Amino acid sequence: MPLPSDLPVVDHHCHLSPHGEGVAAARRFAATGGTHLFLATQNYEADPPRSVEDYQRQFETTEALARQIRAETPVEVYLVVAPYPVDLVSAAAALGLEKAARVHADALDLAGRWVRDRRAVALGEVGLPHFEVAPDVAAACGAAFDHALEVARDADCPAIVHSADLTIDGYRELAARGARAGLPSGRLVKHYARHRTTPSERAGVAASYLARRPLVQEVVGDPGPWFLETDFLDDRSRPGAVLDLATVPRRARAIVEGSSDGAEQLQGPFVESIEAVYGWRPEIRAGNGRP
Ligand SMILES: [Zn+2]
Repeated sequence: MPLPSDLPVVDHHCHLSPHGEGVAAARRFAATGGTHLFLATQNYEADPPRSVEDYQRQFETTEALARQIRAETPVEVYLVVAPYPVDLVSAAAALGLEKAARVHADALDLAGRWVRDRRAVALGEVGLPHFEVAPDVAAACGAAFDHALEVARDADCPAIVHSADLTIDGYRELAARGARAGLPSGRLVKHYARHRTTPSERAGVAASYLARRPLVQEVVGDPGPWFLETDFLDDRSRPGAVLDLATVPRRARAIVEGSSDGAEQLQGPFVESIEAVYGWRPEIRAGNGRP
């Protein structure tokens, strides 16, 4: 059974690189039935960014990729930009903690302007290093995360959160951190979620689930908001990591083929959750009908 032509098929978190497969990966995504990508920025250069200008150039590279994908494929692309939380750790070693924290905060402000200018739809990835760091660096990372949540509040957009796996307490702490910054939990998305949780266990935070087959089978009928993602890295040294970009359309096809209400269930992650968290619905582009 083909995917219904009016069903968006959305990968909610991936990266693409001009040094990797780039637009060809998006073409593969489309050929498998994918229609929409949330494209998160990443560092494209040998060294991590050390200045706001470096971040500006990085975001522009992501934007250029998005523009190329829209021009050359039927895929719609939404940009997600922010300084990667872990950048602050390496920048602190190179620049000193105080200067690194200032660059990071300025880059978050820049990302907020991109959202307000409608060049991006969300702030991401923001959050905390997923590994242990020195106490002073950890404090700076926490302050940077708080600032990120305030920037998301002011830009009226979701924050896509990078963190270690979250327990129920971890979700509660995240929601409380958002509340302190004035960002409601419905605007928080835990990206790279690897375990099934209910909306109340997540304290209202949305889950962007890694689209591994068993996890997708577990969560497919669950109430939202939740998304599916590959966190595709487009790194030639790690082909197909974290999951290949064709994964979400493949899972969608399996669900539609496996159950009579599969297409209806997929309205959850691909339409209703986007509307709940972002405030708009993904539209199938004119000329984006599937073969
Ligand atoms: Zn990512």
